[in-house]
Amino acid sequence: MSTFKELGLNDEILKALTDLGYETPSEIQEKAVPQVISSTQDLKAFAQTGTGKTAAFSLPVLQKLDTNSKATQAIILSPTRELAVQIGKNIESFSKYMKGVNVLTVYGGANIEEQIRGLRKGVQIVVGTPGRTVDLIKRGKLKLENVQWLILDEADEMLNMGFKDELDQVLEVTPVEKQTLLFSATFPREVESIARNYMDDPMEITAGQKNKGSDNVTNEYYMVTERNRYPALRRICDANPDIYGIVFCRTKRETAQVADNLIQDGYNADALHGDLSQAQRDGVMQKFRNKSLQMLVATDVAARGLDVNNLTHVINYKLPDQIEAYTHRSGRTGRAGNKGLSIAIITNKELSKLRPIERKINKKFEKKDVPSGEEICKSQLFSLINNVKETEVNHKQIDSYLESIYSSLEGLDREELIQKFVSVEFNKFLKHYANSRDLNEAERSRTDERGKSRDDENMTRFFINLGRKDDLNPGKLIGLINQQEITDNVEIGQIEILDTFSFFELDKNFTDETISAFEGADFNGRSVNVEITQKKKRSGGGGRGRRDRRGGSEDRRGRGRRYEGGNRSERRSGGRSDRNDSRRRDGDSKDNRRSSDRPDRSDRSDRSAGFGRRRN
Ligand code: AMP
Repeated sequence: MSTFKELGLNDEILKALTDLGYETPSEIQEKAVPQVISSTQDLKAFAQTGTGKTAAFSLPVLQKLDTNSKATQAIILSPTRELAVQIGKNIESFSKYMKGVNVLTVYGGANIEEQIRGLRKGVQIVVGTPGRTVDLIKRGKLKLENVQWLILDEADEMLNMGFKDELDQVLEVTPVEKQTLLFSATFPREVESIARNYMDDPMEITAGQKNKGSDNVTNEYYMVTERNRYPALRRICDANPDIYGIVFCRTKRETAQVADNLIQDGYNADALHGDLSQAQRDGVMQKFRNKSLQMLVATDVAARGLDVNNLTHVINYKLPDQIEAYTHRSGRTGRAGNKGLSIAIITNKELSKLRPIERKINKKFEKKDVPSGEEICKSQLFSLINNVKETEVNHKQIDSYLESIYSSLEGLDREELIQKFVSVEFNKFLKHYANSRDLNEAERSRTDERGKSRDDENMTRFFINLGRKDDLNPGKLIGLINQQEITDNVEIGQIEILDTFSFFELDKNFTDETISAFEGADFNGRSVNVEITQKKKRSGGGGRGRRDRRGGSEDRRGRGRRYEGGNRSERRSGGRSDRNDSRRRDGDSKDNRRSSDRPDRSDRSDRSAGFGRRRN
């Protein structure tokens, strides 16, 4: 492992890092810092949240910055105001011993005139949210012709939030010869296409595995009925008296409801969602950061940019629609080398959502039983006893009362005293959990789930010119299909491996995409040919498609694996080039649900720029 000094950083930066308590570089810093210091090649970096990305791109930029020039030399785009502010603050800390470094953070929802005044003074590094950055460019106030570094932080999030147009606009006004540094925790097609269109032969670095969840995070799930989702959440919280975590919900309304219920039931919780004013959001975040709140109930969007390192739990009250969002949620725990736990509370209907997440994070969810009342009482009791043992007595404050306390407790022996003190705290749990029900729901097997949709009419059957003789088996075929990245969650149906060729079924919504994705593909050096073929008749016999005259088939129907995804509409929209647009349209006009029932995509504070189609 290298030291920061060995990465080539100057003394001023090293001193600032020591002040911040950064002792050794994280993996992404170790890889990115020397690369950007020594080369102007574009860089594509796969890094989870919380891995030290900010220093990874900021330190080399600071090292190479021309402090004699006041021109804007680096522009850093980040998806949310909170994250942008965090980055700006970090850069200020990193550069506190350097002379003449000016950093400005620009974001929507704040006074633009003030930001323009800030720009006039001459800032070498601008950190901005995409909407406000474009607004300032259009007004001619932010000039990027001298930019040497363009940094896209959490590129996947920016695209998820519908900022593709803004990214395009910024990318187009920056000089061609700049160095682009793209950081992303996940790499869906949209991010790849930004990299393809705007980056020149980028060097790729990875900290941890691509699209994978953090190694420090354990993933668990609890199976309940819909009615028992909230009671299960309570039990999970009660079984973990020292919990400090985020409870993720899908909609603003659900977030507000769950937070209200928790507060009413006496938990130290609050809600964070897009309907709150910026001041309310700042207030809630502040309380959570300083641990006045134990639990933050939040939508995905609202929780972005929240820089808290020591969360014990992330709870998925409802799993997100998009797999990437799970990676982001779970990445909020297990940060900065800590261990973390990401819990999903699911119903049988949602069981099929686990598989694609497992594939992406390359880890299994462990099934856990919702704790019984007895187990909860036990963990509360021991936590209480532990607290009593650890509590320091403040003699100055209580000594004057002690005499009268002793005399009023006279007559109780040690055992009785302990029993009574414990009961004061503990009776509420005993009462709440007396005769408590078992909340666990029997799990329908994952095979049932598979079998159910296998027979549907929504599959196209494909012929592929590879078979057992080419060393193909069902697992390898699934691997080959996944490699083509047809879309995030395409559903794979029946697989039939024959000697010299094979068949597979795949969601018919992606028929054209499948054919084009396989163009030019190869398997062990053999070029692959995929064609649409006729469906095999379900009742006996084979279909009218090609047959293998030479031997038996390995028919995986009913046993085969399936690349399961979220709901069908989500699968339909996924992976298409118009994905963000179509989602935005749904969100803006077609969806008649109340806005608070829709997934929260409301971190739109900086979307007042008014270019193009977005309506807010
Ligand atoms: P980031 O991924 O940049 O948001 O960083 C996550 C957290 O880790 C932040 O609180 C950083 O201050 C902290 N951090 C980043 N790099 C280091 C390091 N080398 N040593 C200690 N802490 C770090």
